Amino acid sequence: MDIKEAKFLMSNTKVEECPAPDKPEYAFIGRSNVGKSSLINMLTGQKGLAKTSSSPGKTQLINHFLINNSWYLVDLPGYGYAKVSKESREKWRKMINYYFLKRENLTCVFVLIDSRHEPLKQDLEFTEYLGKMGVPFVIVFTKLDKQSALKTEANVSAFARKMSETWDELPLMFKTSAEKRIGKDEILDYIEEINVQ
Ligand code: GDP
Repeated sequence: MDIKEAKFLMSNTKVEECPAPDKPEYAFIGRSNVGKSSLINMLTGQKGLAKTSSSPGKTQLINHFLINNSWYLVDLPGYGYAKVSKESREKWRKMINYYFLKRENLTCVFVLIDSRHEPLKQDLEFTEYLGKMGVPFVIVFTKLDKQSALKTEANVSAFARKMSETWDELPLMFKTSAEKRIGKDEILDYIEEINVQ
């Protein structure tokens, strides 16, 4: 799939105020600084569409974009930023929980994982939480260009191994680099594939 048109629609905190759930929706989430804005900008081919984080963890909003007039891309606020207060962390948790519970057109969540790291507890816990909520998700490893292919493979395998301690079947895993434009076609083709089903 090619993205011919990507339009920012709105930012809000309430599911009730999101656009009408009349199109399939794909949400992107991950630890703050994981490379989410860069990935969204790579996918849409628009450099400034999602703002790359100048103040990580500050904006706690559900951001909707309309793609090719046929599906919604959602930029969800990230987790795991140490400097965020307990109060705003709780606010985030409630908002996200409500979004996952209520957003009926949500088709798939893309969970971004920084490929530079060995499996992080926070990321593993988040995938477990999605599983418990019954939310379909796939994994997207980011920043492939930051280290050797060997190191990436070691981290990806370790993450898969950790996941298989709680999951019988592992989710799809994409490997990407916004810097080197790796993984764009794979993700967009996957979205197209689910959209036509
Ligand atoms: P967000 O907070 O998850 O939206 O992350 P950003 O997209 O703002 O990226 C955080 C930092 O990582 C920025 O300095 C980006 O330039 C950098 N970054 C993001 N993706 C990549 C990538 O694929 N490769 C490299 N080398 N750096 C990246």
